[in-house]
Amino acid sequence: MMRKSLLILLFITSLLFAAEFRDGHLYLEVNLATGSSLNIESSSVKISDETELFQNNLQGKLEIALPVSDQENRYGIIDKIEKICATDPKDAVQREYFVWEDDHLVLRKECIYYRPESFSTSARAQKYAEALGIFPQRIQLIPVVNATISFKDASRKIYYFESPLKIISGQLWVDGVPYEGEFRLKVVEDKLVLNQIVPIEEYIAGVIPNEIGNYSPMEALKAQAVAARSHAVNLLLYNRHTKDGYDLCNSTHCQVYKGKYRRNEAIETAVMYTAAEIMTTPEQVADATYHSSCGGKTESSQAVWKGNYIPHLSGSTCITEADQYDLSTEAGAANWLKIKPKTDGMSTWESATLHWERQISSKDLAKNLGLSKINSIEILERGRSGRILKLKIKGNKDIILSGEYKIRQAFEALPSSYFYFEGAAGRPIIYPPATITIIGRGSGHGVGMCQVGALRMARQGLEYADILQVYYPKTVINTDWIYDEQP
Ligand SMILES: [Zn+2]
Ligand SMILES: [Zn+2]
Repeated sequence: MMRKSLLILLFITSLLFAAEFRDGHLYLEVNLATGSSLNIESSSVKISDETELFQNNLQGKLEIALPVSDQENRYGIIDKIEKICATDPKDAVQREYFVWEDDHLVLRKECIYYRPESFSTSARAQKYAEALGIFPQRIQLIPVVNATISFKDASRKIYYFESPLKIISGQLWVDGVPYEGEFRLKVVEDKLVLNQIVPIEEYIAGVIPNEIGNYSPMEALKAQAVAARSHAVNLLLYNRHTKDGYDLCNSTHCQVYKGKYRRNEAIETAVMYTAAEIMTTPEQVADATYHSSCGGKTESSQAVWKGNYIPHLSGSTCITEADQYDLSTEAGAANWLKIKPKTDGMSTWESATLHWERQISSKDLAKNLGLSKINSIEILERGRSGRILKLKIKGNKDIILSGEYKIRQAFEALPSSYFYFEGAAGRPIIYPPATITIIGRGSGHGVGMCQVGALRMARQGLEYADILQVYYPKTVINTDWIYDEQP
């Protein structure tokens, strides 16, 4: 049941490393796929170990799997975490994490030391920890490298390799999207993890087409590039994927990234023109979160995610006329919704965000909330953008929906929580008919840059720096945040 884990630990030191600096450039590990088996396709992939001592070329459709695990999982108990690692720690797992220090992004190492005993199940480790009065949070699956990975090609021939692997390919298809360059394949917590090693500027160019569209006006593309870059640096500082074995995921959880897919010259120009530009405040990197369409005014981050007051995310005016209305009141929210904002030059998706209607039956709403009937719906709180933040539903029991996202989901994925119920405009409470009609505006959480607004301003001739000032006031654009040499 117990056994020394030091031998395993000897080999794991590089496993949790993701980002790296090469010649003053920041390279990120962006996750493309995670699973117990993965399918990729390529006309040629070069597979090697990190040192490239061995090399193998494969092609076609490849099925990657973890065959029989020749290394059982071991759960360890963290003994201590040291912020300064010995030069060559033999008995610790080294992990990297980002910090913001002296206005620069710095990659720090820390060393995790485990107690000598390890366990085959987490339950066993917990029992042991409990007996010793150790917090269960200290129990962790000990990362293992040198796991066997198999590649099966179209002729069903199987090749075996040991993780972690370096993969080079001119075109590698993952989930129907082509990527190119350098990749890393590793095993983390029983799963295959396929990452692309990509310089941050390349990453930003791969984010923009998915976040704002590749045929947007140039100044809007530039604004989106700076916002996406600042947001990415912020995400790095959260270190929220450290234990997953990469820096950023490629979905909406971080930012949607699809390599060079749908990338064009305009996007490349926007990224190059704004190279390295991020927004900062005197204390930190500005969190440049963004969304599709605010509806007139942007929301404050505190209203949506709680947390501390963030001056540059406290809300701005996007459409000047909206300033005549107090959107946090029922009357103000309804009256502004009845005004049709100008849609000159807008694409269909943009104008669709300015006025939408949805219907939901009282029955379905009750079902979504686990109720048998609904007697009344009462709006308890709206934010500065008109978004409903708190809603009370009375039925066979009372339910309070708190948060714009929960409210949108309860009414079956509404574009935003800025809406009123037809027939109740200006009043906070309704006694719902069989079919509830919802009239709304905006798309997304409403915090930070509004993409529809940025597009409108770019068409009106505003420059990207001025657009960013509207949505992220009290920030400055900064390019000096990567040390040429890491301290
Ligand atoms: Zn993520
Ligand atoms: Zn807006």
